[in-house]
Amino acid sequence: MNGKQDDSRRYVVVVGGGLAGTAAATILAEQGVHVTVLERENFLGGRAGAWTDTLQDGSAFEMERGFHAFFRNYKNLRSLLRRIDPKLRFLTRLHDYPLLGPNGQSESFARLPKIPPFNIIELVRRSPSIHFRDLMKADLDRTNAMLAFDPERTYQERDEETAKEFLDGLNFPPKARQMLFDVFAHSFFNPEERYSAAELLAMFHFYFTRNPEGLVFDVMNQPFSVAFWKPMESYLRDRGVDIYLNSVAEVIEAQGNRYAVRFRHGDESNVLEADAVVLAVTAPGLKALVAASPSLSPLKRSVDSLETTLPFAVWRLWLDRFCHPHRPPFAGTTGVGLLENISLYEKIESESKRWSAANHGSIVELHAYGIPESLTEEEIKRDLLAGMHAVYPETCGATIREERFLRRQDCPAFAPGSHAHRPGVITPLPTVVLAGDFVKLPFPSALMERATSSGFIAANALLARWKLPETRVEHGPTHGIFASRKR
Ligand SMILES: Cc1cc2nc3c(=O)[nH]c(=O)nc-3n(C[C@H](O)[C@H](O)[C@H](O)COP(=O)(O)OP(=O)(O)OC[C@H]3O[C@@H](n4cnc5c(N)ncnc54)[C@H](O)[C@@H]3O)c2cc1C
Repeated sequence: MNGKQDDSRRYVVVVGGGLAGTAAATILAEQGVHVTVLERENFLGGRAGAWTDTLQDGSAFEMERGFHAFFRNYKNLRSLLRRIDPKLRFLTRLHDYPLLGPNGQSESFARLPKIPPFNIIELVRRSPSIHFRDLMKADLDRTNAMLAFDPERTYQERDEETAKEFLDGLNFPPKARQMLFDVFAHSFFNPEERYSAAELLAMFHFYFTRNPEGLVFDVMNQPFSVAFWKPMESYLRDRGVDIYLNSVAEVIEAQGNRYAVRFRHGDESNVLEADAVVLAVTAPGLKALVAASPSLSPLKRSVDSLETTLPFAVWRLWLDRFCHPHRPPFAGTTGVGLLENISLYEKIESESKRWSAANHGSIVELHAYGIPESLTEEEIKRDLLAGMHAVYPETCGATIREERFLRRQDCPAFAPGSHAHRPGVITPLPTVVLAGDFVKLPFPSALMERATSSGFIAANALLARWKLPETRVEHGPTHGIFASRKR
């Protein structure tokens, strides 16, 4: 399939065309490496991807895996996005990250000081859910752990503990626990009782306590495919990258010091030869590849330790009426059943804005994470609808003109005790590297930023080997302000 290869060039196959694979492909191609991307779906983007769908009236629209928040401390992701839009005009800043609870309760993360512990002091000062006197009763050790993240010690001390045990043990008033912590803890798709407390502490550190940008974020003001993925595909092709969509990598075989990547494209079996391979697939995809490839057996122990967490659901509704004009574009929700957040798409991106203006209705997206596997689609929908009616009562009599429901199970688990065996970018095989939002990194990171950072680090590992210039990988502080560096 490769055709004749040029001895003076390096050849890399990147398996997986999500953010991690795209980040790696970009950095390698920019240094003249010949890259081929294999992607199972018929579009790039993976979990942050989008595809064209058609409404009943025949109009086309771009459907996504759901609302994505682009936090301002996502430095490597922003660097990747700047390849397409140097001024990041396709991102719009939201002014608040409101949290809505039952009976009209709310919290806001807007306009907090940038420096710890002043951000926390101010949050407690103005929060209706907690008072300073409550802090007197809080567990000192656990409260301190929130400001003392240490990439080694925190995992040694807290990785076996569940996030639920940690949060219960904080001894905050139930209302404060619900309003300030539940939404945050659930944002990583894992249920609290199956989520590592150390990982949760890494997330507090990365998103809040050591994030000078604060919890307020940007959104993409056009569909992801239009703003980013289609231009990114052209950017890569312009740099000689071959992109094979609908192509599933099945087996990777060592051939001397090179690799043969066997893949299926429809009914056809094909093979690509390469000097190196970047495995940037989902956790189940990686496990399947390693299981089918004896040459990858040195990765087996760490890769077998990976799991996916419980399913999530995304339900987008095209309503026959508007939500109240003062509703925010996005709000986290808590205490209203399965509902984790609610977005009004006409306030976020251009395509929905046009539909909403023409049809006099809101496009609402409801998310649920860590859903029990036993729940049926009907049960999930009933629960989400009740949640929407509770937080936005004006939707009670609304007719749903159109809907799209996705229930998927491919987000990584960060189970208690999983850190020790979690694979990093570098593997025992010098020219096989890993990338993805489940890969262990040398600094705290998460989700889209973790996927992109891992892709950059994977590309750098290969470039360093071939004495080619590496790209800059940025990250925030590795330690919390109360972490002691003396060991
Ligand atoms: C509902 C939802 C909301 C989210 N919200 C946010 C948010 O607000 N902020 C944020 O930062 N992140 C968010 N995320 C997380 C974010 O989408 C992911 O962290 C990120 O997209 C992961 O990128 P990745 O490249 O690691 O993995 P993926 O995007 O999963 O990419 C892996 C790719 O590998 C392909 N693949 C698998 N096996 C094979 C194979 N054998 N051969 C070829 N290809 C294969 C898959 O098709 C996929 O395209 C959200 C995710 C979801 C699902």
